[in-house]
Amino acid sequence: MGNITLTRRTSQIEDPDLDDVDTPLMPEAGSPLNRTFKMTSKSLMLIDVQKCFSEGTWADRFGLDEVRQIREAYDRCVDVLRLTPHIPTLVTRTPFPGPDGELDERIKSITQERGIECLSKPGNSVLHAVGFVKWMEERIRNGSRIIVMGGNTTTSCVKTSSVAIARAFRAKGLQVVVDLSMCGARATNHKKRCPDCLESYEMDYEGPLCDACVDPAVGLQSPVEAAVKEMKKNGVTVVEKFKMW
Ligand SMILES: [Zn+2]
Repeated sequence: MGNITLTRRTSQIEDPDLDDVDTPLMPEAGSPLNRTFKMTSKSLMLIDVQKCFSEGTWADRFGLDEVRQIREAYDRCVDVLRLTPHIPTLVTRTPFPGPDGELDERIKSITQERGIECLSKPGNSVLHAVGFVKWMEERIRNGSRIIVMGGNTTTSCVKTSSVAIARAFRAKGLQVVVDLSMCGARATNHKKRCPDCLESYEMDYEGPLCDACVDPAVGLQSPVEAAVKEMKKNGVTVVEKFKMW
């Protein structure tokens, strides 16, 4: 019976519309059924789950309301880490100076307990982090077929890194899944806006939204929605919540 469940779960993950599918066949992580699957076919990666975004300088600059969803994403990352001690995991960090550069305290203590490696990532793409390609290739050699990603921020490093991994490792049979419940973005980046203001955001100009940003006729989209679209276009599977641990 376990095998049948496994086969059906695997076929679902390959469905590009997975995020629209409620996944009733999948046992919740931590359920007795799930514990029978000590699968090594998955890996987990958390991008830049650092204090900077939740309580540090960056967070202070924008204020608590702006970073609340990032804090919620960290809560979910902690839950997932606790539920998946059998899943090979990698964490990255951007080398911000001082306490900003440190991992979220709870995540840091789990990485220390379990000896989870934390790679320093110089730019937006994890592909440029020394040691990542070697880790990923080793995971694939050991049977990893799915890498589930979360972290910061949905519109920047998560997007860039997930697309880069999908491009680099697709030919080796790796599927990249971005779990939005573990991904953080500022409240402003969840707000829909007009195409012009979206373009300004993508050109790194952060200004107030214009009057057209409330007019549905112009086709409103938030930066997070645009990032999800781009990830999907590049072969990344994006789900609200990955349930197949
Ligand atoms: Zn606008």
